Amino acid sequence: MKRTIAQWLETDHGLGAVSDTPRLDLELLLCRVLGKERSYLFTWPDAALDAAQQAALEGLLQRRLAGEPIAYITGQQGFWSLDLEVNSSTLIPRPETELLVEVALSLLADRAGSPCRVADLGSGSGAIALALACERPAWSLVGVDRVAEAVALANNNAERLRLPNACFVQGNWCSGLALPAFDLVVSNPPYIDAADPHLGQGDVRFEPRSALVAGQQGLADIRTISEQARDYLSPGGWLLFEHGFEQGAAVRELMQSLGYAEVATRQDLAGLDRVTLG
Ligand code: GLN
Repeated sequence: MKRTIAQWLETDHGLGAVSDTPRLDLELLLCRVLGKERSYLFTWPDAALDAAQQAALEGLLQRRLAGEPIAYITGQQGFWSLDLEVNSSTLIPRPETELLVEVALSLLADRAGSPCRVADLGSGSGAIALALACERPAWSLVGVDRVAEAVALANNNAERLRLPNACFVQGNWCSGLALPAFDLVVSNPPYIDAADPHLGQGDVRFEPRSALVAGQQGLADIRTISEQARDYLSPGGWLLFEHGFEQGAAVRELMQSLGYAEVATRQDLAGLDRVTLG
């Protein structure tokens, strides 16, 4: 029996067991199989899915019910003002990471129209670099990631979003940067301790561990980047990290011990330590 959009939306598919947003998830899956925007669902509630669409939707529902993140199933995730393509080679961009973009923009507010050089280390889908490239057409952004699939994904995003001032290269932190003298180095590195129970819950179970987990209570990569970045920053340049909400003091201490000045931590919308700069 063919079911209409409204009938699919009225049915309880059990998504509440795996998602905090079961209704939204279902809408996004419907949009995916129909190839439509969400507004279509409310404009044409009586449109029936054909057999192929129905089978496709059932397949996607099974994946979601098995816990796979909605962003990996649909291949899309919104970040800042951008619609990014994502896949399981990278972390799914998160709303709290928008704070990193906000702080970066405010640190260089007086240079909004100047040709600043900015590096994003561990760039993943390209979210941070692309948001900055979009806001600041005069800046040039280079993203570095160790994973070839992530580099290809981010370059595709840059091309599709028509942001020619961002490009992505494969490399290991600063070794991927050809020249020194960056005005800003940003990073959302792995910072979760391997023993953190959060790793066994929800979407993170499907994300690459290499993008999440770091040694030394999650601080190993933040330390490596802080050491390397000193040689890549121009005088007065800034280094900016996202980190865990309990890591603010440790990151400040680490950066100060490596000679960074004006070290400070900023809080996210939940009031939690999330970004440290120096
Ligand atoms: N904030 C993410 C989480 O807690 C982790 C992001 C990261 O490790 N860079 O799931």
